[in-house]
This record gives sequence, structure tokens and C-alpha cells, in this order.
Amino acid sequence: MQGLMMQQPLLVSSLLTHAERHHGEREIVSRRIEGDIHRYSFTELARRSRRMANALSSLGIDRGDRVATLAWNGYRHLELYFAVSGSGAVLHTLNPRLHVDQLAYIIENAADRVVFFDITFLPIIEEVAKRATGPTVFVAMTTRAHMPATHQLPVSLLCYEDLMDSHSDGFTWPLLNENDACSLCYTSGTTGLPKGVLYSHRSTVLHTLSAALPDALNCSARDTILPVVPMFHVNAWGLPYIACMVGAKMVFPGPSLDGRSLYELIEAEQVTLSAAVPTVLQGLLAHADEHQASFSSMRRTVVGGAPCPTAMTATFQDRYGVDVLHAWGMTELSPLGTVCSFKSHQLGLPVEQRNAIQAKQGRALFGIDMKIVDASGNELPWDGRSTGDLHVSGHWVSREYFRGENSARLRNGWFPTGDVAKIDPDGFMQITDRSKDVIKSGGEWISSIDIENVATLHPDVLGAVCIAASHPKWDERPLLLVVKVPGSSVSSDELLAHFDGKVAKWWKPDAVVFIDSIPLGATGKVLKNTLRDQFRNYYVGD
Ligand code: AMP
Repeated sequence: MQGLMMQQPLLVSSLLTHAERHHGEREIVSRRIEGDIHRYSFTELARRSRRMANALSSLGIDRGDRVATLAWNGYRHLELYFAVSGSGAVLHTLNPRLHVDQLAYIIENAADRVVFFDITFLPIIEEVAKRATGPTVFVAMTTRAHMPATHQLPVSLLCYEDLMDSHSDGFTWPLLNENDACSLCYTSGTTGLPKGVLYSHRSTVLHTLSAALPDALNCSARDTILPVVPMFHVNAWGLPYIACMVGAKMVFPGPSLDGRSLYELIEAEQVTLSAAVPTVLQGLLAHADEHQASFSSMRRTVVGGAPCPTAMTATFQDRYGVDVLHAWGMTELSPLGTVCSFKSHQLGLPVEQRNAIQAKQGRALFGIDMKIVDASGNELPWDGRSTGDLHVSGHWVSREYFRGENSARLRNGWFPTGDVAKIDPDGFMQITDRSKDVIKSGGEWISSIDIENVATLHPDVLGAVCIAASHPKWDERPLLLVVKVPGSSVSSDELLAHFDGKVAKWWKPDAVVFIDSIPLGATGKVLKNTLRDQFRNYYVGD
């Protein structure tokens, strides 16, 4: 027997219409490329998104067509989130930190028809346009007054605000199939070519619902949310959609992601929740430390994309009263899979034990299941000790890549994440490595992330990376690469002594090498393969 409930498809446009009807007055504040602050309301966001939807249709964009953006976090980018997806086309967010050859490859692979870009990216776009012949229209996301006097694009360059001005806001969001694609994001591709992950309206709305829950990102109409994580990196972890669903004020940082700019924005707009990768938050903490500043409104921050060092959790919580929400996800997971929020029996634990729990990536959101398996695919116990390959399944997990390329190869319906993890009896998952970063010493695995966590607890360590270096006896041994706090004269022996009693003896790195900086990839992740290439033969000599 069928239920007798209304059947309404789960559509991205429904998030916007909800925000307009129920939270119309809520503000969206953006630091613009032009340097000034722009503010308007959800009502205006909805009106302008409809006008842009009319503009897209005048450009000949049909359902299913790909429309690309190369832009920082801001209100125009948000309008495109809804105008493109809401009208049935597919929003393809491009990462400006990728090499132009990669961008050109991705644009051709996605067959993008139009590319919208922030005016500061014109030089990149000009290079890309020489290599990718697909797009027939480029749109500069700015006003007529800021349009470039000349450009070297082979096709027409339109002005975003001209397009906006020449269309009405009379547009009805179409009733799409909820399984239709709404957006496309390519994996960062540190190994092999980038692969496209194609999200559906349904997967996006379900992700939004689950990610906003109290034990996930805990978002409400009382929040002011600052997604520092870029809108080109897995839809800013879903926060723009969440803010519309719950009616939270939204604050966008534009291109200014340094500690001072972020701190000033957080204070000026009374941000309650921010979200960023650890390297960006390091800059924010460094600014706060240097100026002995405090956070008057920020109550919590999401830290994800890379492991959140224990030292960072402790500083945010103990010194600044800002709770850390350690989250794990992937492009293939839209992106959220787990968030580390306490269960009730953990609340009374001593602070060191709670900090140790928060080093874990956390519990699965409703809608995601996970397991760890051995090399033969057998499920391993959740005993907090067994480590294995992490597999996930769920409503917002990619089934296969766009155009079937480098197929995701589901294993019995489970997606192999490429992460190595353990899970404790409370269901808290902890990533110990990417499978390709695992250190195998004498046949046993050593977690590079655990070593890095201990290293960054030392007050003279600004950043640390642990890699596998070839070893004549043990195959591989851990080598610790350290960026010192400026002015520090700490020695490698002192740093190695810091490990005594904190990790098993055989986990202790054999040596420390001081480096000037840590190489980061396009999404802020440490490029361990670059460091491995450089230091692989450290113990064996070249
Ligand atoms: P991306 O698809 O670029 O978002 O990268 C996803 C990968 O980032 C995951 O498979 C993990 O290896 C890593 N990652 C994301 N969040 C975390 C986290 N909290 N701790 C450790 N690694 C993470």
C-alpha cells in the first residue's frame, strides 16, 4: 500500500524559495573583489537569481548544459548557485588554484558552454581560452564600470551586471526530476587526471538536511555563518545551501583569506560559525595570538579537509572559547561524511581525553554508512585499534565519475575512499593516513597523522609533515619534516625527545629535517608526494 503524502521532488531551488518566503530579511554580506563590503537580503538574492535564470536562458542555456564559475565566495557566485542549478542546468565550479592546463582539460571534459569569472581571474581565463575551445561565452562577474578595457578572449565577453539589468525577475523555477544533475565538481587530482563528481538535486538537498543537524554542523536561524572554505571546493561544504534552509545570515570573505582580514570580518559581522581547512585557520590563530585578540561572537568552527591538529583544537577551545567541529569528507561525498561531536557519556571526561576524541574525524551522519576492511575486503572490528581501508555508502556518495572515467569501482555497493582509518566502539572514525601515504615499517603500519599530531604539540613547531622514507632494513621508516616557529633554535634531537612516551618507540621518526615551508595543493592539502620525491632516499643516500 502506498503512503498518501504529497510528492514533491527535492530540488535545489526549494532551498531558495524557502529562504525568500521565511527568512527574506536575513542578510548576506560579501567582501567584494573591488575591496568594499556589499550587503543585501535573501529577498534580493532570490530576485536576482531569477533574473540571472532568465539571462541564462537568453544565452541559450538548456537543461543539463554545464555552466562554469571561476570565482571566490560572494553574492554573485551564490546567485549562480541557484540560477544555474535551479533552472535545470549544471553548475560547474572551477578551482582557480589549478594549473591552466588542468583548468582547460576540465572545461573541455565538462563541455562547459559559458564561463562566469571574477574579474581578477581574467589573465587565467585568457590562458585557458587559448587551450579550451568549448565555451562560447565568457561573463565577467562585475559592473560595467569595472569591465576590462581590452582582453584577449577569442569569443565575446559579457558583463554580469549588464545581463542582470536587461532581464526581469519574472521566472518560475521548473519542476525538475530530483535525480537530475545540479552541480559538478572535479577532484583535486593529485594523482592522475581530475575526475568529475556529478551531484543531483536529491543528493544535495539530503546532504543539506543532514549536515545542518545538531550533531553535525549544528546550524540555525540564529547563526551567522562564514564559509571560508571556497565555493569552488565542494560547494563550500554545503554551507550556502544550509544557510538558506535554516535562515542563517551568511558572510563571504571574497579573496581575502589572511588571518587579519578574516578576524576583522568575523568581529564586524559577529560571525558565530566559520568553516575552513587547518592551514587557513592557522593564519587566523596567528593573527589572534599576535594581537592578543579574542572572539566576541564566534562559538564554533568547522575544521576539515585535512586532519585538525590537536594543538589547534586545544588553542581554539581553551584559549578562545571556540568549539572545534572536526569534520571529514570528500568531493565524492558532497562532501560531508563524519563530524566529531561528543556523545553524552563523553562530556564529563577530562579535557585531555576530550581533545583526544576530537582528533578523530567523528561519527557518520545519518545518510552515510561506513566500514573498515582488510586487503581481502573483510570487515574489521570497531575496536579503536584495527586499521583498514575506509569504505562508505549513502545518499550523497558518488556512484561513478562523470563520463565514467577512471571509474570509482564500487566494491559490493561501497565506495573505497582511499583513506585508511580505525573506528572505536563509540563509532568514532579516525583517519590514520591516505592509503598512498601509509608508512610501512617492517611490515607494520605507522600512522603519519599521529606523528604529525604529536610534533605540532611542540611549541617550536609551526608545521610538521611525516613521510615514508626508504630504509635498507625496515623498507620504510618515518621521516619528520618540520617548519620551525620563526626565531626558534630547537634542535632535531630535542624534537625527537618530545616523542618519548607519546608514541610507541618504533613509531618515533628516525630523523628530523627542517624545511622552510610546506607545499600545498589547490585545495590546501599538503603535497606529500612532492616531499616524498624530494626526501625518499634520505636514509639510504642518493
Ligand atoms: P577532497 O576530495 O579534495 O575534499 O579530499 C578528500 C580527502 O581529504 C579525504 O579522502 C581525506 O584524505 C582528506 N580529508 C578530508 N577531511 C579530513 C580530515 N578531517 N582529516 C584527515 N583527512 C581529511
